[in-house]
Amino acid sequence: MWDGDRGEDPTPMVFRLHHGAPDVVREVLLERGWEEYNEQEQKAGDWNLYWRASTFRNSDYENLLPWQRLNHHPKTSSITRKDYLARHLKRMRGAHGSALYDFSPTVFILPNDYTRFLAEYTKHRLIKCGGSSVYWICKPVGLSRGRGIFIFEDIKDLVYDSPVIVQRYISSPLLISGYKFDLRIYVCVKSFVPLTIYIHQEGLVRFATEKYDLSSLDNLFAHLTNTSINKFGPFYTSDKESVGQGCKWNMSKFRCFLHSQGINAFPLWQKINNIVTLTLLTIAPSILSSPNCIELFGFDILVDSKFKPWLLEVNYSPALTLDCQVDVTVKKGLIGDLIDLMNYRSNDCLRASGYQRQMHKSQTSELVLPKCSRSQTRKRQSCSQSSQTLAKTPREPTQSSHTQKLPLPEVLCQHQSHKRSHSQLSLYNLLVDRQRHLPSFDLKRMHTERRWVINTNVGRIEKNRTVRGGNPIRDPHSRSPINEPLRPALASWPTANGALLMSEVTRCCDDDRAKMDMQEDSNVSSVTSDSPRPRHSYLRQRHPPVDGALLKAGPCKLPEIHRHKPLRPPWGSTRTQARDGTPPLRVGDFILTFPFNKATLKASRDKLDVKIAIQEVHRLTGQLVTGRTRSEMKQRQLEEEVREERGVGEEDFHSLFWGPKDPPLLRDCYLSS
Ligand code: ADP
Repeated sequence: MWDGDRGEDPTPMVFRLHHGAPDVVREVLLERGWEEYNEQEQKAGDWNLYWRASTFRNSDYENLLPWQRLNHHPKTSSITRKDYLARHLKRMRGAHGSALYDFSPTVFILPNDYTRFLAEYTKHRLIKCGGSSVYWICKPVGLSRGRGIFIFEDIKDLVYDSPVIVQRYISSPLLISGYKFDLRIYVCVKSFVPLTIYIHQEGLVRFATEKYDLSSLDNLFAHLTNTSINKFGPFYTSDKESVGQGCKWNMSKFRCFLHSQGINAFPLWQKINNIVTLTLLTIAPSILSSPNCIELFGFDILVDSKFKPWLLEVNYSPALTLDCQVDVTVKKGLIGDLIDLMNYRSNDCLRASGYQRQMHKSQTSELVLPKCSRSQTRKRQSCSQSSQTLAKTPREPTQSSHTQKLPLPEVLCQHQSHKRSHSQLSLYNLLVDRQRHLPSFDLKRMHTERRWVINTNVGRIEKNRTVRGGNPIRDPHSRSPINEPLRPALASWPTANGALLMSEVTRCCDDDRAKMDMQEDSNVSSVTSDSPRPRHSYLRQRHPPVDGALLKAGPCKLPEIHRHKPLRPPWGSTRTQARDGTPPLRVGDFILTFPFNKATLKASRDKLDVKIAIQEVHRLTGQLVTGRTRSEMKQRQLEEEVREERGVGEEDFHSLFWGPKDPPLLRDCYLSS
């Protein structure tokens, strides 16, 4: 009998937070039914997620077990230090031309580049006579949160006692009611090999709290947009024109603002997409494959008065403190989606015992298990029992043309040569040894048997029934508790390499479920399903409409391209996509931005082909369609559907265009060339 039937708690996933890790991570994981790792009670490997604000040690990567995930890839900090980023971008400009890499302000690393800076400074001083002034901003390379930054016009004000960068100050930023702002864009690199980038739909707009004024360069509350500075400003709590109280908006509010001003923001989104991809391409080839790692970057983008976005810096472990309600909504949603991107599988919650069982469905073994507390042993036994019950069901896989072997956990393959602890070595050797004996499973059958629903939140496998008790179950994509009978299901499906993806929402077969998708599909993220989905359901969003000052400016109507509802869901046939290795196109509010077509998918495999990737970005740039009408788009989609029915379509997968609310299909935003 499945333990849920006996009313026992399922084995929880376990997270481990290093000192200094953000509280919001703990909060989100506890809400999802995870448990916090206890060093005293639990063995070293008995956790599923280790979160650190700082970098991990090499040994952390070397000893990583298949059920474990880390929140950093190795060596990613090489773009998050201001001077390193400057060097990387300079190298890319040299190798690939400055036309595409023109998104970061001119920069000098001092003291090394002092002579070059002096020459540039002098050149501008001479030109200045009659023209407008040139300003510079000086930032210590090793500091963050606005510490040690100052702006100057005259070189005599440049004083520093540690390595700094001096950057051209963007002196005509886009202002909202006189206030300067920048954008914090959350970017997740799910994998560097192959390079897989997601950008979150929500982000932050961070305002200065005093009006922009070039005659007071030393007023940091007017020139810097860091919250860590502005929350101490005298006007932080005042109700500022358009901006409101505090110093933050979410991205939805910004989108609405742009629309209320009649601004076509598509070119802006496209340029930001490019900035993210091109910046990550600078380090991607040098980062080793670490399949169980994920990286969340914070890209700081300043938009100037001509709507050109500038990359200011890339943040490692972007701040996840909750200073205001906007932070709470954006950051909790972000972390929830990030956990979903981590791709936990059903037996990850069982940790070592789950992997043992995977290896030995029909055989016994003497694998050393991590020790655990008595309560955990009990839980594990009950889960193990239930899992065995599952194995005994008549669903034992049969051989067919779709039959595949379960893969050897990638992480173990990656680190074969590294040093391991005794228990890890045992597990590793066992996995390698038994790989050829792994049970087969039937892909086709798994796809059709949609009634087997696995909820990763609580690590529970259920068959068409409502689960009671335990933690309140939250829909991972909606942020809010939902009625259990309407709880969206998470299900597994095999990807091209046979791994079971657990983090994306799929469709339950029953009618109630179908209705729920129609009514509240704000919950829909990346989807896979053999059966047709209700149309348009992915278009509904979970974010509340904007309020306050913006609404006073008039109703926030979306431009034509937003209102147009594609005739079929943008993920297309995910099964086909999974087979050809296409990553999920959307997970929660994370939108896949690289690879974005078959050429970049191919270029990102094995050894990343940076040249092809850049060529593809270049090809897209300039082809952005901003004025396509609704009927044109509809016509084009109909044509595409006919082509697909005839089997001549599907030249590319159905990528989404990050940026607009309800992201449209990428191919609908660009002219075909
Ligand atoms: P930190 O890591 O200390 O936050 P940033 O590079 O993000 O350093 O700079 C802090 C703030 O200074 C930014 O949020 C932005 O408001 C402002 N700023 C930084 N560089 C520039 C620039 N080149 N032009 C205009 N403003 C800038």
